[in-house]
Amino acid sequence: MTATLINGKEFAADVRAQVATHVARIKEENDITPGLAVVLVGEDPASQVYVRSKHKMTVEVGMNSFEHKLPEDTSEADVLAIVEQLNNDPAVNGILVQLPLPKHIDENLVINAINPAKDVDGFHISNVGLLGTGQKSMVPCTPLGCLMLLRDHHGTLSGLNAVVVGRSNIVGKPIAQLLLNDSCTVTIAHSRTKDLEDVVRGADIVVAAVGRSEMIKGDWLKKGATVIDVGINRIPAPEKGEGKTRLVGDVDFASASEVAGAITPVPGGVGPMTIACLLANTLTATCRSNGLAEPVGLTAS
Ligand code: NDP
Repeated sequence: MTATLINGKEFAADVRAQVATHVARIKEENDITPGLAVVLVGEDPASQVYVRSKHKMTVEVGMNSFEHKLPEDTSEADVLAIVEQLNNDPAVNGILVQLPLPKHIDENLVINAINPAKDVDGFHISNVGLLGTGQKSMVPCTPLGCLMLLRDHHGTLSGLNAVVVGRSNIVGKPIAQLLLNDSCTVTIAHSRTKDLEDVVRGADIVVAAVGRSEMIKGDWLKKGATVIDVGINRIPAPEKGEGKTRLVGDVDFASASEVAGAITPVPGGVGPMTIACLLANTLTATCRSNGLAEPVGLTAS
């Protein structure tokens, strides 16, 4: 391997430590404890794992954590009523509705019912619009994590060619928008893109957010490119024993790390940044709503 490893696990621990320091300061100086409320509807095992880690890390940085676990058959009206209650609760600075919601609930309706100032996932249409027009907004956590890693590695991103593979509303599009706001020349590729390999080969920065195991190969990359692998895919790992699995990204790490200048591993790259950025966003939301200075280096500004 010749590429520099971008260690998201360490970086995320540092972000959480910075958040904890800031939380301790506003507790002491302003008597304010940031609060994050998470709403989980149903029994999705992956969502339950995420919500448990979110709770643990929220408490670890000194914030209040409020959990609302609702049964699978909760009505849309009841979920909206809880969101409204959290919107009006001054102890709650951030609201996260864990996705996916059960099929009988309209996700967009629920997300757009969240007070945009408390929308720490950054999915509310107002925050999407603010980000799209280069204004101060709540920025989706995983994209914000990618931006932090890239800024840390490159210093400035201005003028670099970035290719984002994937155009989802929660990952691909907001990452592309953030890179554009940082003056990259941005291409968004997707399943209909022609000659994807050639498109990727023109990139100084490649962000892979596809959901297909090890799809992007080393020989698709420009020598020295920076590769941010957002993908989290579980594949069989018979070498570890029968029925065992392992996690891989959307990039073929073995070949890519021989060509790239820097690369995030999976696991231990972008993944840990998501919760760290959720906590950073909750702190930012708390500071903004109380007229306090925002934490430096923990936002997209
Ligand atoms: P989606 O399924 O919503 O979007 C995938 C995107 O990839 C789509 O835009 C799709 O194109 C595009 N795509 C699919 N196949 C190809 C292909 N063969 N060539 C080019 N483009 C293709 O996924 P998400 O954005 O939600 O997630 C992407 C990955 O990131 C997943 O592995 C997910 O697990 C991971 N993830 C990781 C997070 C973290 O914390 N690290 C957080 C969120 C997601 P089209 O629009 O044309 O269909």
